[in-house]
Amino acid sequence: MDHDFLHPLTGSFAMPAAENPTVVMIEAAYRQLGLDWRYINCEVRPEGLGDAVRGARAMGWRGFNCSIPHKVAVIEHLDGLGASARIIGAVNTIVRRGDRLIGENTDGQGFVQALRDVADPAGKAALIFGAGGAARAVAVELALAGAARIRIVNRGRERGMELADLLVRHTPVDAAYLPWEERFRIPADTDLVIHATSVGLYPHVDAMPDIDIETLLPHMVVADGIHNPPLTRLLRAATRRGCRVADGLGMLVNQGVIGIKHWTGMDADADVMRSALLELRL
Ligand code: NDP
Repeated sequence: MDHDFLHPLTGSFAMPAAENPTVVMIEAAYRQLGLDWRYINCEVRPEGLGDAVRGARAMGWRGFNCSIPHKVAVIEHLDGLGASARIIGAVNTIVRRGDRLIGENTDGQGFVQALRDVADPAGKAALIFGAGGAARAVAVELALAGAARIRIVNRGRERGMELADLLVRHTPVDAAYLPWEERFRIPADTDLVIHATSVGLYPHVDAMPDIDIETLLPHMVVADGIHNPPLTRLLRAATRRGCRVADGLGMLVNQGVIGIKHWTGMDADADVMRSALLELRL
């Protein structure tokens, strides 16, 4: 056969979908890998999710991402879960293995992979601001990557305590909840300071988590989950305090790298994907 017009399909199901730039970085990676694959960004309403997954099955999609609001709801339509997705209780990447659709969670794995460019989490004491979906995924993967201690700081007490409890029950890490007091003072024996709330996300780019910046010390690594803008006010302040930093764009790009590995078996170039996103000037 001279031509093969049947392109392998991947994509994303979310709502809203128009503002999700993932397609740009994934298709840049496919081109760089010489793969004639497609990544289709689909807006799927909650009531249509089951049909969308059945459609992807029927059409032989190689895999797809799920974003808000489908990360938990999609689980009932799948055939199995990866180990960390089972603990986190949410899925953002679906992989076809034979006839089975398996749910993985790459949110936290992407974070840890990006963090490794700056620091190895093994044996470290981490402080995580936030207890939502992103914080949950990051906390579980940090624990599985061998962090020694995790403190969860969250505005809402119940969600914070729930996450600390999840870590204690399902991972070997020493975990506890700390209330988010005004101008939170970061304990000096913290190695990794991780911001995983939505404070500072575009368009609220001047918002700053309520942290006493003077308590950031040069030995600390500060990581932000916010990818837009990549250089948040928090990261700029941390750099001025002499800390090394990791941005949320690295987390997003590395999720893509891990997803592409699941779907194609190939190693995508993170720099190509990051450049494709930066060219968008989000
Ligand atoms: P959730 O809605 O699940 O959780 C939001 C979190 O932010 C909660 O902990 C909430 O606290 C906290 N929060 C919200 N507003 C405030 C505030 N004013 N002060 C203090 N805390 C606040 O969202 P996600 O966890 O899914 O997402 C969080 C962020 O992570 C988003 O900005 C998202 O863009 C980013 N993200 C980045 C990814 C990446 O690849 N870079 C991947 C996934 C997410 P409370 O419980 O008290 O309400």
